[in-house]
Amino acid sequence: MMPDYGQAAAKDITDGLQKKRFSAVELCRAALSAVEEKNHKLNAFITATESLALKQAEQIDRKISRGENPGFLAGVPIAIKDNICLTDYPTTCASKILENFIPPFNATCIERLVDAGAVIVGKANMDEFAMGSSNETSYFGPTLNPHGENLVPGGSSGGSAAAVAAGMVPVALGSDTGGSIRQPAAFCGIYGLKPTYGAVSRYGLVAFASSMDQIGPMARNIDDLAALFSVIAGFDENDATSAKHDYSGITGNLDVDIKFRIGLPRSFFKEGIDREIENIFEQVVSRLIDDGHQLVEIDLPHINLAIATYHVIANAEASSNLARYDGARYGLRINDDEPGEMMCRTRSEGFGREVKRRIILGTYVLSAGCCEAYYNRATQLRNLIRNDFAEAFNEVDLILTPTTPTAAFKIGEKIHNPLDMYLSDIFTVPANLAGIPAISIPYGKVNDGRPVGIQLMAGMFDELSLFQIGRCIERMTGE
Ligand code: GLN
Repeated sequence: MMPDYGQAAAKDITDGLQKKRFSAVELCRAALSAVEEKNHKLNAFITATESLALKQAEQIDRKISRGENPGFLAGVPIAIKDNICLTDYPTTCASKILENFIPPFNATCIERLVDAGAVIVGKANMDEFAMGSSNETSYFGPTLNPHGENLVPGGSSGGSAAAVAAGMVPVALGSDTGGSIRQPAAFCGIYGLKPTYGAVSRYGLVAFASSMDQIGPMARNIDDLAALFSVIAGFDENDATSAKHDYSGITGNLDVDIKFRIGLPRSFFKEGIDREIENIFEQVVSRLIDDGHQLVEIDLPHINLAIATYHVIANAEASSNLARYDGARYGLRINDDEPGEMMCRTRSEGFGREVKRRIILGTYVLSAGCCEAYYNRATQLRNLIRNDFAEAFNEVDLILTPTTPTAAFKIGEKIHNPLDMYLSDIFTVPANLAGIPAISIPYGKVNDGRPVGIQLMAGMFDELSLFQIGRCIERMTGE
């Protein structure tokens, strides 16, 4: 018998397949119809990869019938954020400029997923070039939050988050440069992990801000989150920033009775945070104390400068990374006899407003005369923020904050006020600047039913502690 597909965990799927309760093709058809049925309303996918999914499912059934190992994630349907390269289908980055771009190679994480038997059902909607916190900057229209039709799912991995939350797929890949996995995970009531910088190969991820971009997993429970992470993490010679860290065995070590020393940087979130979020956060703090963890107040002296620092560095890197979209080699081209004019027209028509704003700001902070005042200062501040964390982790194992200052906001509420929009990443950007791993864990809801997420950060390469504390909190909320 098929599991209730919309609720099924990855393990229900891999177990059911091994025990021949259903076939991978049957499960894949259930996934594809869930995608088709719900996508009309939610717009979580830009492209459905139906024929690829069915081909992969058939292969898994063949392997099982031959008695071969079909892989750790055999038959598990997955959504891929549309800035991760997958051959034979467009990788649009939710931008007009890449609307028809078909990558000639697969990202490393795609190769690893395919080897592990995961079934790719589609490319998920996102903010254009991953720039945004609400999915409203997508050229293909906004994704809606399954928890309320007029609500944003968060961003930029909003399509991935909505697809998981709505039961279209049990797991998804997102990318996180300043919070783009954790903030939508919080808004949609699911789990999301931004891995340590270098833990997951960025080969085949379309670059936004290369010193912070990371691909990471999104899921409805900790086991699935850890399982997906264990498949995509690990050294890759195609990414010069890939780290040689051994994550093997991470999934087998979650159920331990371990008590953590957890830091609370209270001065960091005393202002601008929604009352209801604050109340839920205080509940989490007391539940963790009751559970035997030790909570201590810590100070991160430079962290209030994180948003400003992030936007200078991210925009500077983006202006350089996005220079390649000039109509000459790939993507959109608006013809003109004069090459400069061709590039200008291509970029003017191909990029949306938010992307243009960031390219202009990024070019400005790097320009002669401004570089000292902005970019160089931001990199110095980044070092101070990094040192704050390094010092804090001499004293504590983990650091706890809310994931976001508010629950999901309404479509249209912030799109015309970029500064307000940027502030929704206030708690998430520090981990990207420091390169450390961070998780968002769903915990409770505000009065009108919108989900809330809490964030835990750990030292470099200590994803294991994040999964373990995630397991503790998952138990608390499941009680
Ligand atoms: N929302 C943040 C921004 O707009 C982060 C984006 C991201 O992590 N890709 O830059």
